[in-house]
Amino acid sequence: MRSIQYFYSNMAKKKTEKLYHRLPYPLQNISVSLYGLKLRRQRYGGIFQTSLESLKRSEWQSRKEILHYQNENVVRIINHAYETVPFYKKWYDEYGVNVKQIQSIEDLKQLPVLKKEHIVRNPDQFISTLYNKNKLISTLTSGTTGTPLKVYQTKESIHFQWAVFWRARARFGLNIHDRQLMFGARIPMSQVHQNPPYWRHDYFNNRVYISTNHISEKTVLPIIDYLNSNHFDFFAGYPSAIFQLARLIREMDQRIYNRPKIIVFGSDAVSTHQSELIGKVFGAPVTEFYGMVEFAGTMAQCEKKCFHVDHEHCYIEHKQIDNSESHKLILTGWGNRAMPFIRYDVGDYGTPVDSNCTCGRESPVFSSIDGRMEDFITTPDGRKLTGMNQVLKYATNVLEIQLQQKNIHEVEFNIVPDKSFDEHDKMPLITEFRKRTGDHIRIKFNIVKEIEKSAKGKFKAVISDLD
Ligand SMILES: [Zn+2]
Repeated sequence: MRSIQYFYSNMAKKKTEKLYHRLPYPLQNISVSLYGLKLRRQRYGGIFQTSLESLKRSEWQSRKEILHYQNENVVRIINHAYETVPFYKKWYDEYGVNVKQIQSIEDLKQLPVLKKEHIVRNPDQFISTLYNKNKLISTLTSGTTGTPLKVYQTKESIHFQWAVFWRARARFGLNIHDRQLMFGARIPMSQVHQNPPYWRHDYFNNRVYISTNHISEKTVLPIIDYLNSNHFDFFAGYPSAIFQLARLIREMDQRIYNRPKIIVFGSDAVSTHQSELIGKVFGAPVTEFYGMVEFAGTMAQCEKKCFHVDHEHCYIEHKQIDNSESHKLILTGWGNRAMPFIRYDVGDYGTPVDSNCTCGRESPVFSSIDGRMEDFITTPDGRKLTGMNQVLKYATNVLEIQLQQKNIHEVEFNIVPDKSFDEHDKMPLITEFRKRTGDHIRIKFNIVKEIEKSAKGKFKAVISDLD
């Protein structure tokens, strides 16, 4: 999550971190809170409040108004990029494109597709000459592809971005004063400490950071006690960490009595199965947000669980590949004029829906975000299938499940079973897998104690060992 990245891009300056970890618990809370104060000013100052109010109105615009708005802003950001961002000027000239001919979102196809490698190779060339680099706020993205990318943003862009995040939360009745339990990628607590409390307080943001590295069989009871004696309006953060806690609570036959209003997942991919277990254990609905630190394109779920494009700052093209239901996403954003992303292919896929959502909002919608390129299952006849995490939704009586393709002729379901798991639970998985892939791939079941996480501790629902 962004907050943790901010936290660490500043806190993780090694010396400060060392010093911080030597502090006693109360002083750590004060440090976290002071840092929280800084974050609060960075996020919720300036245009934040007016943007939030305006976003709450504009989400009800008609399809016609939305398209008009997107057309205008796409044209504007492309001209801005061409005139003031050295990379685009050079690239578009080399490519032989006349930016004056880009008059609408339809014309975007004339422009080449931007990849992360372009930016990693020429980071400074992406900053608009209208801005002084030293006055911009930089964030380092780790990303799922592993190559870190430094993104420079204006202050206004950060205020606006947080207004976009909070507009999504407001759909579920949340506001910035609500009490939050945060599950970040890393935690403000050293691994050396093995005793509770496994959480630290950010008093200025009414937020508690739970130490996700400390969620284990040994620590779960004090965490449950804490959750049952403290009320949180919502949980937010990495679903893999929230899932780990939910799973332990379920395994130990424990219960959570203090229900949050909602659980907000970050952009980390989450399987339907994980999401359902989290919802059951904490007795709260869950909602997902799609977006990245780049702030090139974001989508947030509505009450009907559809992903709505945040059309106020981005346009998301989608491209079908190999007849797959799931399309490649290409993002163009105008929310950050200091470092604009135009036709950015970040490797994500989503399933678009042609009709308007039943919630009444007319912004473009996707029924699901289907993960990244490496999540393909490849069939012997050469098809690359995305959205295979949908198969896992048919799993019953399992604690964790993963679909892994070892070679072109064989896949394996890695399963951490529940107490009541038996042979019958395998059938729906086989049927759903066959529906999508045909009969030419062998299916194996591995019953395991635990499913391996990626180096960053992320859980992957579908994994392919193929190149
Ligand atoms: Zn909707």
